[in-house]
Amino acid sequence: MTEKKPDLKSMTREEVEAFAEAAGEKRYRGRQLYEWMHAHQAASFDEMKNLPEAWKRRLSETCEYTVLTPLRRQVSAEDGTKKYLFALADGHVVETVFMPYRFGNSVCVSSQVGCRMGCRFCASAIGGWERDLTPAEILEQVYAVERENGKISHVVVMGTGEPLDNYDSLVRFVRLLSDENGRHLSQRNITVSTCGLVPQIKKLAQEGLQITLALSLHAPDQKKRLELMPVANRYDIHEAVEACLAYAKDTGRRVTFEYSLIEGVNDSGEDAEQLALLLKGSGGHVNLIPVNPVAERTFRRSRRAAVEAFKNKLEKNGINVTIRREMGRDIDGACGQLRRRHISETREG
Ligand code: SF4
Repeated sequence: MTEKKPDLKSMTREEVEAFAEAAGEKRYRGRQLYEWMHAHQAASFDEMKNLPEAWKRRLSETCEYTVLTPLRRQVSAEDGTKKYLFALADGHVVETVFMPYRFGNSVCVSSQVGCRMGCRFCASAIGGWERDLTPAEILEQVYAVERENGKISHVVVMGTGEPLDNYDSLVRFVRLLSDENGRHLSQRNITVSTCGLVPQIKKLAQEGLQITLALSLHAPDQKKRLELMPVANRYDIHEAVEACLAYAKDTGRRVTFEYSLIEGVNDSGEDAEQLALLLKGSGGHVNLIPVNPVAERTFRRSRRAAVEAFKNKLEKNGINVTIRREMGRDIDGACGQLRRRHISETREG
């Protein structure tokens, strides 16, 4: 078995400093290395001008320095959204999306290769879970997109994978991304989306982070949620919503409820009434998303009129709601599709 190399970009500043010391370098060299990695997002050791050449050579031979380069890139002619497919060192691929908004640029990152949650409407679930991403691999999706597009103001962890199923890497990623000595992105501009892993939501509430939590709800009641999301077998819809509301109370951060509208499945007037009842008095915000069709699934997106009617009904019942602006429609929006296409083409090839 080959020994795992130290993963430099996943280390905290203190860990990099201790690592430098253990290698016979001065502690401040570790700090310099940390700043090159996170404040300057250096794509190679060559860029790290003030570090000793011999140490850089040793680092490059003995350590993991995660840098992602795009394997494929799709650019929307409509709104400038860019979908990236990045190759990982072991040959797996991950999908990342860059979205230019008026209020600033946003990037949606993946947290795992594949996903074991099995949501019926999701392309990422089809091939199952392959492995967790390291903190460096999640971070590098942001850094690689920034190298090409300039500074990002918001990061959403909503791509392939269930972030709280890769809990330790997720928390470390958030701390590294927001560290004032590194990339220093405000935690308030980071959103983490979960399908509702209740114990991890409770744990996350105690981490002292200021991130926004989004619950992928997608159903107004337990029966419908069970049909769409196997996670509901483990954690009842009420339990998941309550855990999110407790998160909001503990952290002072508003929770968002994501709701993908699927024609004839969860988009009726009755569904809207049920949803309003479920979230009554929660103070949460509902994000309506017309579901993206997935080739391997039969779900169809709700019609515009049904989406509007759903929104109006929620508003009449006192629920805050927005319809998510669709980005990159012309580049085949559904998350996980580009990766699936790449995998099947590679196999056929
Ligand atoms: S929607 Fe999210 S949690 Fe569900 S299968 Fe897809 S990636 Fe996993």
